[in-house]
Amino acid sequence: MGKVSLDELKSCELCEWRCGVNRLQGELGVCMLEGPKVASTMLHPAPPQSFTVFMAGCNFRCLNCQNWSIAHVPEQKVSLRGKIHPKVLAGEAVNKLNSKRGKYMGADRIFFSGGSPTPSLPYIEMVVEEAREIDKKLKINYDTNGFLTEKSLDRVLDFASSITFDIKAFDDRIHRELTGAPVQPVLRNARTVAEKALEKLWEFRYLLIPGVNEKDVEPLSSFLYEIDEEIQLNFLAFRSNFVLEDHPGVKRKALDRAVTIAENTGLKNVSWSGSPSLFEESEKEDIRDIRKRKGCIDPQRDCGKCERMLECPVKKYDPGCKR
Ligand code: SF4
Ligand code: SF4
Repeated sequence: MGKVSLDELKSCELCEWRCGVNRLQGELGVCMLEGPKVASTMLHPAPPQSFTVFMAGCNFRCLNCQNWSIAHVPEQKVSLRGKIHPKVLAGEAVNKLNSKRGKYMGADRIFFSGGSPTPSLPYIEMVVEEAREIDKKLKINYDTNGFLTEKSLDRVLDFASSITFDIKAFDDRIHRELTGAPVQPVLRNARTVAEKALEKLWEFRYLLIPGVNEKDVEPLSSFLYEIDEEIQLNFLAFRSNFVLEDHPGVKRKALDRAVTIAENTGLKNVSWSGSPSLFEESEKEDIRDIRKRKGCIDPQRDCGKCERMLECPVKKYDPGCKR
């Protein structure tokens, strides 16, 4: 990995927005993050069991975000752990993994998540370097929304032992509606991981949102099948959240249907997880109407070019439920 520093944040091009801003001088790109900050850390029982580090900030503005309070700092006022020296965080991670509870849980890696870890990539590399000074075989998981440059992805593939990769939609218009970003770089990176590093791919994850991205299950599954029939695809159960706080959760039968559709394309390792909705089907409002009603003005939903990029009603959105 070599010598890493935060210097590249002086002209940040870590993700496909390629903002070129000087984050160390307070200039803000789409992620609106200056220096890397740790939101929280915990031993986490979800597979792969880990010491999970949630980094603050995100380069997407997903209407359905489940971690909205940390993804949308500084617009959301939430208490963070903040700046932690990489050596301190690395030591803490190794200690927690070696603790009785860590061992009992089967936790065997540091799992970088968020928000999105990509705006914090150089910091993560520093933590990894320090952690592997202590235990050179330590495993690392990188959790990604796929919107990183090819160069950043190469860096991730260099240190990651496993990758959990979220794909939000296959169709560009739906991907933009959900995230504010185009889908092409995500699919390009998905292909790279699946073709060049399948052994590192823990799974692709697809949050199934009723009435929004169900139609993309078949084309996405066919796309993955054409790369490798053994690819692991896991559908996650959407629950009402953030800007989509009134949108109904997904039913079990829709998750089962998604698995069948994906298997029918030829994929061999398809599953679903999470908690399906137990409520009766309720009316679904078109997400274009929800987005407009909640203040997102751009019909293209292209956050990188939007005149409200730094004054974004989605990043400031205050859902009824607090956490
Ligand atoms: S959105 Fe991406 S390119 Fe822009 S400042 Fe943030 S990490 Fe850098
Ligand atoms: S208002 Fe603009 S910046 Fe905010 S979510 Fe909509 S398109 Fe993106």
